[in-house]
This record gives sequence, C-alpha cells and structure tokens, in this order.
Amino acid sequence: MKNPENLKVTVSGVRGVVGDTLTPELILNFTQAFGTYLKGGKVILGRDTRPTGPMVKHAVLAGLVSAGCEVIDIDICATPTVLMLVKKFKAAGGIIITASHNPVQWNALKFVNSSGVFLTETQIQTVINLYEKKDFVISGWDKLGSVKSYDKGIEDHINKVLAYVDINKIKKSKFKVALDCVNGAGSVMTPFMLNKLGCKMEAINMTPDGIFPHTPEPVPENLKDLCKLVKSKKADIGFAQDPDADRLAIIDELGNPIGEEYTLAVVVDYLLSKKKGKVVINLSTSRASEDIAKKRGAEVIRTKVGEANVVEGMIKHNALIGGEGNGGVIFPSVNFGRDSFVGIALVLQYMAETKKTLSEIVASLPKYKIVKTKLTLSKEKIEQALTKIKEIHKNDKINTLDGIKIDFENSWVHLRASNTEPIVRIVGEAPTTEEAAALCEKIKREME
Ligand code: MG
Repeated sequence: MKNPENLKVTVSGVRGVVGDTLTPELILNFTQAFGTYLKGGKVILGRDTRPTGPMVKHAVLAGLVSAGCEVIDIDICATPTVLMLVKKFKAAGGIIITASHNPVQWNALKFVNSSGVFLTETQIQTVINLYEKKDFVISGWDKLGSVKSYDKGIEDHINKVLAYVDINKIKKSKFKVALDCVNGAGSVMTPFMLNKLGCKMEAINMTPDGIFPHTPEPVPENLKDLCKLVKSKKADIGFAQDPDADRLAIIDELGNPIGEEYTLAVVVDYLLSKKKGKVVINLSTSRASEDIAKKRGAEVIRTKVGEANVVEGMIKHNALIGGEGNGGVIFPSVNFGRDSFVGIALVLQYMAETKKTLSEIVASLPKYKIVKTKLTLSKEKIEQALTKIKEIHKNDKINTLDGIKIDFENSWVHLRASNTEPIVRIVGEAPTTEEAAALCEKIKREME
C-alpha cells in the first residue's frame, strides 16, 4: 500500500520513497513532462551515491531521450556540479537525482533551468501541469534524443572553484584536513580537490555507495566521529558534507563544530576583506554575517527562507556572496546554488593568507547563538497569535516579509507558521544560548 506521506512534490522537485511512491513510472512521467517543458535541448544529468541512483537514472534517461533531449550524463557528482555545468554547456536544463540529507530509502529529482538555477515556482507548476495531463512529447524513432557520458564534470567544477583561490599559497600551508563525506558525492570529489591543494587527508565515510553511516544531515550531533578524528589526528580543520555535497559543516582544530551558521559567516568575512559587494541572506540566518558585512561597509539584503528565494534575491541585487545558515554558501561566480566546495576552498584560503587557526578566525567574529523551537496551536489560533505579536511589538523593528521577524538591539526572533502542520516555527538569536532560549519562551507566552 502506498503511503501518500511518502511523496512530496514541491518547488524543489519530486521526492519519494523508492519501492513505494517513487516508482519507475512516476520518474519516467515526471521526466517526460520536464523534457516536454524544455522542448528538447541539452540536459545535464547527475546523481548522488544512493544505491537507488542507477534505477532512477535509467528511468530519467528514457523520459528525456523520448522527449528529444540531448543528455550529458555526469553520473555521480554534487548538486552544485550540475548547476555549474548547465551554464558551461549552455544547456536547456538539468536534473539532479538526490534526496539530499533524507534517509537512504528516499530519492528525488531536482530540476534546473537554463540559467543554472532551480526551477521557479511558476516553472515547476508548468511541469506539474504537464505531468498531470500526461501531455508529453513522444518522439518517433528518428527524432529521439541522445545520451553522452561526460567524465570531466567533476574536474570542470573543481577547477572553476579553484580559480578563486591561490593554490600555491594553500599548498605551502600543508594543511592536514579531516573529512566526513557520509559516503556521498563528496567521497569522490573532495579528495580530488584537496589533493590539488596539497592537503594531507584523514578521512572517514568515503565509500561512494550511499549507505549512510550516520544520519546524513551535517549538524553537530551527527559529526561526533569527525570531531574525534580532528583531535586524534591533530588536523588543522574538519569538513563534513551532506550526501549531495551542497551543505558544509566545519570543525575547528580543537575538535569543536563551529556551527553551520558560521560556515557562511567565515566565508563572508573572507570575501568582504578582499572585495566590495552585496550580501544576500534569509531572514533566519545569523546576524553574525550581517554584522560582519556592516563592519566591512557592505549592504545586506534579507530574503524569505529557502534556497530559491535567496538565489532570486542574489540575482536581483547582483550579490557578491549569499547563502543560508544551514552551511549553505552561495557564490555566484561559480554557480547559483549552495556549494560546499566553494566553502572548503575559501576557508582554506583564509587560513593560508592570515596564518590564523580556524578557532582564531571564529573568535574574531561576532558571537551569537541560535535556538530553534516551535509552538503547536490550532490553525485558527495561529492567525490570532500572530496578530497579537504584531500588536505587542508594534513599536519594535518588525518585518513581515516571511512570517514575523522582530529585531532587537542584540537579538532577534523569527516566527513562521507551517504550511502543512498546526505549528509556528520559532527561531531566536542572542549572544548566548540562554538568552536566545529565554527570548523564544517569552514570545511563546505572548502568543498564548
Ligand atoms: Mg543537500
């Protein structure tokens, strides 16, 4: 029996459980819809290391070739690799087969448009309409598309990233780097890049078979082995990626996770020390990046939460750098999506240039702690509660672009009602965890 909970069709694509909702037929039809939407043309195809990848890939190939597309198959690579190659090949679009940090039984299709950006809401809706009407281009034998393997995709991507650092300078530092690639796409790509940078590697979970040795989201509670590895091998730094290697978590040389918010903050600090430019982050991202930007005279633009919204803001404002607090660094010079390789390269460059340890760099940044919590309320009560908050805080600095965000002098709180559950998500930030937690509790009481 299929569980409808096991199929998610969202702005980021279609995601399901293999053997349940994510069937070859559904993959084929969605891909036919996408190929029809593209009206043929070149499509870059990549996948993460999940064991279900080959099955999904072959259904995708059938759909795309039938719709007349010319597929360039990269096979195993990171999500940002596909984004970058769509632009390099001036392709009509791209597909990445990955369920990111979801458990192994999940897989998904993420669709990319000709700008190397994930489809917008309107674009994905057009694809969904074609899928629902089964309104597909089905080519005859002489109009079918083609499939070509391309084995330089990873190299192209890494070379593009390394064009923004001084390779010799990093080599001279002879960094010892600890790695946890969670048996994902990073297992293949990250050693390739670090070798070019002359780093010595101490790595765990480097078998590219997609059997995740721990919960694959790169948050501190899942990275205890990496922290131990950094300490036992006396590494200069530790890096952890999620299975499709778009998100990056960093461990300092003392074995402490710096927190995903600080991945972006360190990169923003480095880039703005070199170049002027705008910074685009979402409303729930740490104020650390904002304070750094202000100190360095850069403008900061806040967007709605979600990678697509941040990217949209970055394009609109011609940003130098942007991203999200979940370890998502977006550097438009390389591509328009979160890219862990950009993060790794720029952080190593920062350390090589300043000869500072990572803990010293982090200690020089503004200090904040984020607390994330939620309040369960009936759908009707949520509306009332949010109105009440607006009334109580009418004299505070309040932003209603995406839920309610209230900025105080040294802290802020952001409230967003869930679309799917009767809850309000609450994110609070302050100089200490205790203050952030107290702020969230105060807001909860005000809502009730
Ligand atoms: Mg991911």
